[in-house]
Amino acid sequence: MSKANITRTLCLVKPDGVRRGLTGDILSRFERAGLRIVGLKLLVPTDEIARKHYRYEDIAVRHGEDVWNRLVSFLCSGPVVAFVLEGVDVVPVVRKMCGSTEPAASPPGTIRGDFCHHTYEYTNLKQGSVRNLIHASATDEEADYEISVWFEPSELVSYKKADHAEHFLD
Ligand code: ADP
Repeated sequence: MSKANITRTLCLVKPDGVRRGLTGDILSRFERAGLRIVGLKLLVPTDEIARKHYRYEDIAVRHGEDVWNRLVSFLCSGPVVAFVLEGVDVVPVVRKMCGSTEPAASPPGTIRGDFCHHTYEYTNLKQGSVRNLIHASATDEEADYEISVWFEPSELVSYKKADHAEHFLD
């Protein structure tokens, strides 16, 4: 297999996931799927990093400025676990494992389907931010950008997991 198929994605266990003690469950799902964690940190995001991550041109344009502001303030409300995963065409694989953005619409077996349940309607009624536990990059380009927001190149490591040959065939 060409190395070109091995790609990276940026994930965040959002403050709801960390506060609920779900970090280990979430990470272990990705490990069990054969994905490699190549970067990992726990931090309380600043407003600046949150607004760099959730770009105005993306979120405010797609969902409105109000949703963007609530999302940024939610992301800064406590610790997040930022991590980088590596695997074969990993971006869509990780999005599939996360499930749909709206928890109520997320199928069982996904992180959002198994661990949370509420709706946009309820979120908006409460003037809150949807509690969907995890962020994962949507495209390879977004992954490159988001990895650079959260990690210095020197913070990403290279190693082989014990089950490497089973997943990567080399
Ligand atoms: P995803 O996180 O699945 O990639 P988006 O990039 O569209 O989804 O949205 C980013 C985040 O914004 C979502 O994870 C969610 O926390 C929040 N969000 C999106 N749409 C809404 C909405 N209609 N009401 C409240 N929060 C929303």
